[in-house]
Amino acid sequence: MDRPGDRQDDLRELLDRLRQETLTEIAELLRSHRPESVSFDDTRPTDWGDEVSRHIDDEMDAAQLERKGERVRRIEHALDLLDRGAYGHCEKCREAIPIARLRALPFATQCVGCRESNELF
Ligand SMILES: [Zn+2]
Repeated sequence: MDRPGDRQDDLRELLDRLRQETLTEIAELLRSHRPESVSFDDTRPTDWGDEVSRHIDDEMDAAQLERKGERVRRIEHALDLLDRGAYGHCEKCREAIPIARLRALPFATQCVGCRESNELF
């Protein structure tokens, strides 16, 4: 049960699921965004309050989309590292980072021990 291959499989599954979730969120944001931008026509009376709140929504969506896009890139980078056997190892002590920690923090680059000693010094 503890062969390295199992760990690789678990990590791949974790990253694949994260990527899928993030892509779904992006698709939902885009879907909720589109009807809003086509409603820019003369079927509704123009109202400044509306204009402003729509603008704010757009900016929030854009920022969210950007963050989620960045997340997908990081996940894909992690998958790339995983292929080369370089994902999920502490960058300081080279120990394998426990999967439980990676589930909580998929982009953790240090084990808890190194992380804590960093904070102390
Ligand atoms: Zn470490």
